[in-house]
Amino acid sequence: MELSISRINNFVGCPYSLELFYKYGIVSTKWKDAAEMGTAYHKLHEVAVNAEQDGTNVMEAVAAVINEKYEHCPSHKTVEEWEKEQALVTYGFLAYHWFYDVADFEIIKAEVPFYGVPILDSEGNDTGHTLKGRIDNLIRMPNGHILIHDFKTTSHDLTSGSYWTAQQNNMQMRTYLYAARCLQSHGVLEEFGIGKDEIIFGAMIDVWKKPGISPKFITQKDTKLLVEGGQYYSNDFKVEWTSDLECRANGVITQVKMGAKGAAYAIRETPDMYGARLIHVMTEDPDMYFARRNVPITDRDMALFQDNLAKIVRTIDFMNQTDNWYNVKTKCRETYTCDYTGICDADIDISQGILPEGFKCIFDKE
Ligand code: SF4
Repeated sequence: MELSISRINNFVGCPYSLELFYKYGIVSTKWKDAAEMGTAYHKLHEVAVNAEQDGTNVMEAVAAVINEKYEHCPSHKTVEEWEKEQALVTYGFLAYHWFYDVADFEIIKAEVPFYGVPILDSEGNDTGHTLKGRIDNLIRMPNGHILIHDFKTTSHDLTSGSYWTAQQNNMQMRTYLYAARCLQSHGVLEEFGIGKDEIIFGAMIDVWKKPGISPKFITQKDTKLLVEGGQYYSNDFKVEWTSDLECRANGVITQVKMGAKGAAYAIRETPDMYGARLIHVMTEDPDMYFARRNVPITDRDMALFQDNLAKIVRTIDFMNQTDNWYNVKTKCRETYTCDYTGICDADIDISQGILPEGFKCIFDKE
């Protein structure tokens, strides 16, 4: 099998998830907000690095990606939800670049895909399984050390020790380091200037905590201040009535709640107004929203990881050969809601070939 780290983690938590995927080819067709937003945020960083290395305009390249991605609101989202996501990704990226104004490392290569990386046990025996995935960046520190650099988005508290302990023990960074060293040993990284004799030391995690605020109606008092002062969180906004029923902020129609008496009213933030508040929140207390840490990974860590990974895939083989897959229903909603709850909550017997709504079989296409 060719396995990604997310499939391996899913298997470790609940083997049945891998049976559904590999044996029956079942995948969810539902939109995953957190994953989609994380993918968009990663994409902006990738495009920015590539534009910088190509000598083209970074902001133009980033704006083109945002415009393409958010041009059409999908049917399962409201326009407000779509605009909120666009603002979060855009202003999160801008605040990141404000906070890390001066790079303290060199990005050697953005987005390094890998596939077919053999999973060997600690004695070098091939398990017959391979790894696939994508490393966000390979970077070089001022002291010359080469590291894996991984962007993460989260809703967790970055000041919490438990978040970082979980990252330290996360298999993902070890998988990426294992893959990078494998690519290096085959000379694949030489085109990026990483020779076989250099050491890829470990990993750095670069986390953005998404602000938990949403677009809102501002108060009548703040609306009045905005109309008179023309400013909202240090950004210029011109609010004007363009007809008896239509109010605009910088030309964008905004919702209005009329007050009980007189001419008082309150407007709802437009996406740009919400973005101005997002930037304010993130730049006022950046350590709450951005954190970068090295993840030390020793040779012993890697040896234990390799040994463990080989045991995991051999357990997969055993379950597959003996049809001994089992489920762990306590995992269905432990950290994230599992993709397959639509099947497992109702104990649907998928061996009958009938899938509930929200799933498809990828084997059908073959
Ligand atoms: S929904 Fe629960 S039981 Fe089903 S595969 Fe996911 S974690 Fe396992």
